[in-house]
Amino acid sequence: MANPKYLWWNGKVMPWEDATIHVTDMGWSTVGAIFEGIRAYWNPDDEEAYVFRLPEHMRRFEQSMKLVRLEQEYSTDSLIDTILELIRANEHREDIYIRPLAYRAGGGGGGFSGFGSEAGILINTSSRPTHLKTGKTQHACVSSWTRISDNVMPPRVKNISNYRNGQLATMEANINGYDVPLLLNDQRKIAEGPGACVVMVRDGKLVTPGVTDSILESITRDAIIQMARDDLGLVVEERAIDRTEMYIADEAFMCGTAAEITPILSVDRYQLGNGEIGPVTSQLEDLFLGVLRGTDSRHSDWRTPVGLRQLAKA
Ligand code: PMP
Repeated sequence: MANPKYLWWNGKVMPWEDATIHVTDMGWSTVGAIFEGIRAYWNPDDEEAYVFRLPEHMRRFEQSMKLVRLEQEYSTDSLIDTILELIRANEHREDIYIRPLAYRAGGGGGGFSGFGSEAGILINTSSRPTHLKTGKTQHACVSSWTRISDNVMPPRVKNISNYRNGQLATMEANINGYDVPLLLNDQRKIAEGPGACVVMVRDGKLVTPGVTDSILESITRDAIIQMARDDLGLVVEERAIDRTEMYIADEAFMCGTAAEITPILSVDRYQLGNGEIGPVTSQLEDLFLGVLRGTDSRHSDWRTPVGLRQLAKA
């Protein structure tokens, strides 16, 4: 797929090809880096794209920077404007993924001694069509790897280094013939997947691990909890989950910006329900897609219009 025309780097929208760094900056450069993953959805009737929960994502970006001791030179509000400007510059009339990344500027060659707090910031966008309602499903396993815990590397923020944990678990799962691993936390309870939270349905209730169970503080998980309660009238429990509860769940799904809602059909080859996408998951997928695209008017405060409609008129 072709790259978009522009990205934003350290204060400027610039041509994609011009944003390069020297090869000696490889290695340590991204150990302390943090990032965000955000999506925007195209609504053809409105001729507009809507970014999903942009202020919440950029608030977490700010918190991630704080936790890894990077100084924020740009205000969160100005980064929000920057993201909208970049999407307009690239004229993305499609579903996209937006990735802001903050790293320790000045080269990574210093290793442990590279403690400068000055941050370089990059924001890039790419085309990423939704897979909601496309029938995408996953078979999961419980990983032999343990999820990082808060006194090791804080799971609640998006530090690049955290993802080595999920990458090892994913490689193991894939080699063993599964699509996605579920990692247990150091209490031996279900935490989450490598890049998404997990929700199970038992007796009509939604159950998901709490924010102190070694999970990322997921914005999608929060949205799903609110939609399930307010729009579908479901009971939602945030609590520790035993691994064998996953085996006897009626339904389960992964949720996150990239994962959106991805139904899980089995865990460690224990089939969930009748082995197909369950009714609660399916209902949530319908609702979520409408809310994301803005074809469902509910939760309008979660959608930031990009301004592409106005641009087309100008
Ligand atoms: N857990 C991890 C480890 C993740 O990387 C992600 C994706 N950001 C999530 C959960 C889901 O978080 P969100 O809904 O905010 O994208």
